[in-house]
Amino acid sequence: MIGDGRIPFLDLVTPHLELEEELVSVFRDVLKTAGFVGGPMVEEFEAEFAQFCGAEYCVGVGSGTDALRLALIAAGVRPGDIVITVPNTFIATAEAISQAGARPDFVDIDEHTYNLDPRGLREYLETQCRFDSTTGGLLNLKTERPVRGIVPVHLYGQMADMDPILDLAARYNLLVIEDACQAQGAAYDSQRAGRWMKAGSMGLAAAFSFYPGKNLGACGEAGAVTTNDQGLRDRVRMLRDHGQRRKYYHEIEGYNGRLDALQAGILRAKLPRLPKWNQKRRAIARRYNELFRSQTDTIVLPCISPGSKSVYHLYVIRVKNRDQLRESLEQANIATQIHYPTPLHLQRAYSNLGYQAGDFPVAEKVAAEVLSLPIYPQLKARQQKRIAGEVVASLETRRASDRTAREVPCAAWEEHAA
Ligand SMILES: *Cc1c(COP(=O)(O)O)cnc(C)c1O
Repeated sequence: MIGDGRIPFLDLVTPHLELEEELVSVFRDVLKTAGFVGGPMVEEFEAEFAQFCGAEYCVGVGSGTDALRLALIAAGVRPGDIVITVPNTFIATAEAISQAGARPDFVDIDEHTYNLDPRGLREYLETQCRFDSTTGGLLNLKTERPVRGIVPVHLYGQMADMDPILDLAARYNLLVIEDACQAQGAAYDSQRAGRWMKAGSMGLAAAFSFYPGKNLGACGEAGAVTTNDQGLRDRVRMLRDHGQRRKYYHEIEGYNGRLDALQAGILRAKLPRLPKWNQKRRAIARRYNELFRSQTDTIVLPCISPGSKSVYHLYVIRVKNRDQLRESLEQANIATQIHYPTPLHLQRAYSNLGYQAGDFPVAEKVAAEVLSLPIYPQLKARQQKRIAGEVVASLETRRASDRTAREVPCAAWEEHAA
C-alpha cells in the first residue's frame, strides 16, 4: 500500500508491472537469436532515439558515463586539456572529463536555473585565459593548459542556456558536449537556430543515461551519444567496441562500452511512452507549484526559463534548514533526496584540483538548501497533497525562527504552457 503508507522517492515497480508482458516478450525475442550485445535491436533503438532528439545520429553505449567519456574523446579532447563544467552535478560529468585525460575546470551556476551561468563562463574565458597564437586557442593562465571544451549539464530536466554558451564556444573555438542525462525530451527556444531545439541536438554531441531512475530508463545500465557529426558518430562506434570497425582489426585503442540488445529492446518498448510520461511530470510540477503558491516566502520553487521546457527529472525546492525539513518528511514517511549535497570541487576525490570552499558561492549555497521531492508519472494527486501538506506544516512550525524571504524572485516560477 504505497499510496497510504510510505511515499517512495521513486516508483520503479509500477511502470514495469504495467509493461510486463511487452518487456518479457523483448527478452524472449533476444533469447531466440541469442544476439545479446549490439545487433538489429540496438540499431533500431539508435534510429528511433536520434529521431526523438532531433539529431542525425545516435550510438548506444553501456551507460551515461560511457557516453560522456566516449563523446569527449571522439570530439578530440586530449590528455592535458581543460574541459569546463559545473560543480553541482553528478560526479560522472567530471569523471568522464578526467578519464578522457583532461582537467575539469569549474564555472559557477545561475541561481535561478542551477545550470551553467553563461556570464561566469565568459568571465572565466576572458579573465582566466589568454589567446595562444601557436595553437590558435585559449590557454588557462595558471596551468598553461589548452581549454578544449565545455560540458553544460541540463540539470533536473531543464536545458542549460545554450545560445550564449554556443556563441562563446564559437568565439573561442571550444567544443560543446551536452550532459543530457537528466533531460530526455527537454527543449530550448533557440534564438540562434530560430526554433525550439531538443536536448541532444544542440552541441557537437550529447550524452544520455538510461539508468533505471532516469525519465527513460532501462532495466539495467545503458546510455547513448547523439550527434549531427558523422565522423564523431563513427569514432564513438569504434571507441565503444575496442577501437575496431571490423572484428579484430583495431584502428585505435578503445573500450568495452557497448549497449545490450535486451536493454535496447526495453528502451524501444518504453520510448513511445516517454512524451506522455514527461507530460505527467510537468503536470505534477505544476500541481506542486500550485500547492506551494502561498509559501514562496520560505520555499524557492523551481524556476523554468520561459524559453525552456523542462522534463522535470527532479522537482527541487530550496529552503533554509533543509536537513530539518528532510527529517520531518522522513518522520511522516515521505522519502526525499538531495541532488547534490556536496559540490564536486569540495569532494575528496577532487582535492587534487586545488579548489577551496568559497570558490563557487552559488553552487555552495544551493547545495546546502536543495531538496528533491518525489516526482514520477505514477505519483497520485492524493500523495502530492500529503507531501505538500507535510512540507507546509513543517515550515509553518519554524516560520517565526527562520523566516527568510527569497532573495532573488523568479517571475517565471509559474510554469508556462508546456
Ligand atoms: C545519471 C547521470 C550521469 C551518469 O549516467 P550513468 O548512466 O549512471 O553512467 C551523468 N550525468 C548526470 C547529470 C546524470 O544525472
